[in-house]
Amino acid sequence: MRHFILPIVLSILFFVSCSSGQKKHSFLLIDEDEKKITALLNQMSIEEKVGQTCQITLDAILQKDKSNKLIEPHQIDLDKLDVAINKYKVGSVLNVSNHTFTLKNWNNVLKTIQDAAAKSSTAIPIIYGVDAIHGATYIQNSTLFPQEIGLAASWDTSMAREMGRITAYETRASGIPWNFSPVLDIGRKPIWSRFFETLGEDVYLAKTLGAKIVNGYQGGSSIDKNHVAACLKHYVGYGFPRTGRDRTPALIPERTMLEQHLPPFEESINNGALTVMINSGEVNGIPGHANKHLLTDVLKGQWGFSGFAVSDWEDFINLFKVAQTDSTIKDAIATAINAGVDMSMVPNNPQYKTYCEKFVELVNEGRISQTRLDDAVRRILRIKYRLDLFETSYTEKEDYPDFASKEHLQKAYLSAAESITLLKNKEEVLPIKTSSKVMVIGPTANSLNCLNGAWTHTWQGVDPQYNNTKNPTIYEAIKKSALSCDLYKGSKMEMINGDEFDLPSTDLALAAINAKNYDYAVVCVGELPSTERPGDIYNLELAKEQQEIVKTLSKTGIKIILALVEGRPKIISEIEPLADAIIQCYLPGDQGGVALADILFGKINPSGKLPYTYPRHSGVIMHYDHKQSEVINGNTWANDFFNPQYNFGYGLSYTKYMYSNLVIDKKSYSLSDEIVVTVDVKNSGKRAGKEVVQLYARDHFATISPPLRKLVRYNKIALKPGETKTVSFRVSTEDLGFYNAENNWVNEPGKHSFFVENLKTSFSLK
Ligand code: BGC
Repeated sequence: MRHFILPIVLSILFFVSCSSGQKKHSFLLIDEDEKKITALLNQMSIEEKVGQTCQITLDAILQKDKSNKLIEPHQIDLDKLDVAINKYKVGSVLNVSNHTFTLKNWNNVLKTIQDAAAKSSTAIPIIYGVDAIHGATYIQNSTLFPQEIGLAASWDTSMAREMGRITAYETRASGIPWNFSPVLDIGRKPIWSRFFETLGEDVYLAKTLGAKIVNGYQGGSSIDKNHVAACLKHYVGYGFPRTGRDRTPALIPERTMLEQHLPPFEESINNGALTVMINSGEVNGIPGHANKHLLTDVLKGQWGFSGFAVSDWEDFINLFKVAQTDSTIKDAIATAINAGVDMSMVPNNPQYKTYCEKFVELVNEGRISQTRLDDAVRRILRIKYRLDLFETSYTEKEDYPDFASKEHLQKAYLSAAESITLLKNKEEVLPIKTSSKVMVIGPTANSLNCLNGAWTHTWQGVDPQYNNTKNPTIYEAIKKSALSCDLYKGSKMEMINGDEFDLPSTDLALAAINAKNYDYAVVCVGELPSTERPGDIYNLELAKEQQEIVKTLSKTGIKIILALVEGRPKIISEIEPLADAIIQCYLPGDQGGVALADILFGKINPSGKLPYTYPRHSGVIMHYDHKQSEVINGNTWANDFFNPQYNFGYGLSYTKYMYSNLVIDKKSYSLSDEIVVTVDVKNSGKRAGKEVVQLYARDHFATISPPLRKLVRYNKIALKPGETKTVSFRVSTEDLGFYNAENNWVNEPGKHSFFVENLKTSFSLK
């Protein structure tokens, strides 16, 4: 079918509408700051400028013993600090290795570093960054939220903003003003070790929630001392490695890049995000750190991003060592800086010294221009001004009375409670009575580490010594509510040489014998925390030792409630029929134990919805927005091949919702019309609840084969028993377009439909 195509040129496709042809970053430049920066730049030597672009890890300036091990408790080595600040003029520090500090300790670390910076030749403050990705993860007793994949399952934009606000406040209480979060990589590779750090598979969900997290982190346009600068990562395509292994090559066609991977970043940049971290891998053979087109042309040019781009860990060095696109470290520095990276997370000692020295040589040789160096430094100083670091370079914990307050814990609890997703509830086995006798069994049943996942207290999150143990595990939380409750191991998970090994536990046989003494078995399965390369796995199947718990107990006739505590959907198709109820907890954070118990006992009515398609077979990874060609079943020729364990957007409740009257105001629309879609949702059950109303659209025929549906809007609403609400969505016809063969955003006339639940309405676009 031939269509009347309304092309919108590429710049408009990015919704660029500035008369200059270049979009202004919504974080506007402040004249006064720019003048101060110009004055500073005029006084700075090349060495001082280069130093500003250098980021070192805290370990690089900590005391070590003779065998090069960090001395405990960590102490700053003042000589090393002196060299970093005064000789190499370093401008940024990050992280802490395998440690969680007290607030007081953090305050001291920041004060020591900033005092040294204040006495340096430029007196420019350090910008300190950290991965506070689901709460202030490296501060003892901080408030820990669900990891992003769980947050996404709440489909709640205000919750996302609150998570951001509280995390920012608690991070700033330590003195740290910069957070390496949110992850805006699209979660379409469940085997990828960092799937749990994403907001799921859908671009619209990820971009709307991501922008709210950024609002929460940064507050308004000026960042006060309760907020932090966000860092969008990992720009761009990092989450889509072909093999699923971390930091391995991705192949992403230009159209998919435009349609799926860039929009969440663009949306958050438009919302004023101040910094961006670069993809450690490569896309179409070009390493993220060498991709001038994406860094300079798109990010800084088309989108007008005026903040700075930081490399990921060692990635300048990795252009030489891993990607092997440069034959020396010096060449790699030139490549990355000239591509548009502004700051290098070098970050170790003595590598950072080499970085600074080689960079200075490159400027003197003219291989990196003074203009490019000045641009990078200007961007970094801009953010230092924006964070007001020249006035307040560190903070005191006394100014943060709400750190880990009851209100913060309550928010973390609510976000866990609203994310946990009920996937199966045969014969309404849930909720259960508090008078029940419960067996809790499985390797994730009694572990705060498993509830939190990686990036919690330590990088991999497996060390229990720093846990906030006042928060109950799943077993401890259930024990508080049930008449009686006992814990069995069922199986064990151990990390051996970086791989998770699951071992049978001898108490499984005992659990089976004792099953008759209990009303229910809550079987808690999942995986050990891990991320990045250490989190690479070989297959998606839930460990057979864990499946064995369900198989063994199912023979006893006990009612089985399967709780999945996992960062990615592990295949459960064999045991799914054996479970009476199935609950996806994701990685719900410190409040996850209580939240799950409250769902089991009915104090909370579950309202989470899957932010990804849960596969049934590890060889069939499909997404909800698949195409017609993908549903044809070659065995039956029926259109039933898309048969996941659970679909994207799926999740049950203890009440029932009835949808009716899906209405649009016209039968035909023109381009740039706004379509008003309304639908009635009734709570026809006996319990109050929350429902995520999801609006999907379909373009029936298009020159680029169209997906069968695409999420275009959603809204989470609360409904009392018997209550009906009319939900209305506004959709611009332009939003229903796609990228054509020339990679231009177009709307083609023809038949379109909207879907909400089982309702459908169609219209034509003229
Ligand atoms: C990760 C980043 C993280 C950085 C600093 C890297 O290895 O890829 O996501 O922000 O380390 O911890």
